Amino acid sequence: MMRIGSAGPVLAVILAACGAQAASTPHGEASDAHGAAAAHGAPAHGDAHAQPAAAHGASASPAAHGDAAHWSYNDQAAWGHNADACSAGVEQSPVNLSSAAPVAEVPDLNPRYLPLEGAFVNNGHTLQFAPAANTSMLTIGADAYNLVQFHFHSPAEHTLDRRAYPVELHFVHRNSAGQLAVVGVFIEEGAENPALAALLAAKPQAEGDANASHVTLDPAALLPGDRTYFAYAGSLTTPPCSQGVRWNVLRTPIQASPEQVAALREALGASSRHVQALNQRTVLLGL
Ligand SMILES: [Zn+2]
Repeated sequence: MMRIGSAGPVLAVILAACGAQAASTPHGEASDAHGAAAAHGAPAHGDAHAQPAAAHGASASPAAHGDAAHWSYNDQAAWGHNADACSAGVEQSPVNLSSAAPVAEVPDLNPRYLPLEGAFVNNGHTLQFAPAANTSMLTIGADAYNLVQFHFHSPAEHTLDRRAYPVELHFVHRNSAGQLAVVGVFIEEGAENPALAALLAAKPQAEGDANASHVTLDPAALLPGDRTYFAYAGSLTTPPCSQGVRWNVLRTPIQASPEQVAALREALGASSRHVQALNQRTVLLGL
């Protein structure tokens, strides 16, 4: 078995460190943050923007906190203005995935998602669902993670052979050590998706927690049957772009009707980070 990903103690420390900041996080200025926010039990609050300072060993000052909160997909060059991982990191996400990636034996990816109640929020950068209870799990081989939230990007952030699907879904998980594992699912146009229909019917119309919709849905219905995946070590795809994220992008897309895809894209707007250099990393395609 190959062990993929190197989510190390640094990320765990960052997550612990920014917990203290969660209460002071400005409302609604959430980073999608790939679970960093949800890790503190405040899923709709993007306390992840406390991370850049913590990542450099300094205390997270209110100024740094505020700076990192105000980022835009339209000005990605500015993400790294503090020389944080967004600009200086060499294991950043997303990346281009090649269908000719080396095929390797990787641990089985086994999402054990149960029907969930939770809050569906427009956090200003994405639409994000955070379950009210930690009942859904992901195991990757022997490693177990809790599902902390899922959210969308449009167009897809990871490209496959340099082409982007219209939407990408990110299931964000965290283990007991605070390490993150994300399962990426592409969405293509095709048959209507009932689980997405439930979500779209509850789509929050305005930004912020106060406008969250309370939804019950089965996230397993948002997974393809084929769990073949691309595995690599990467990062959050939003500031502060913290590395140590274990990425698992499913090769097979799920389908949504053209109307559903259009509704998602309209709600999301442009919400994708540019593809990042692979550098010394290897992406593996699981057997
Ligand atoms: Zn994401």
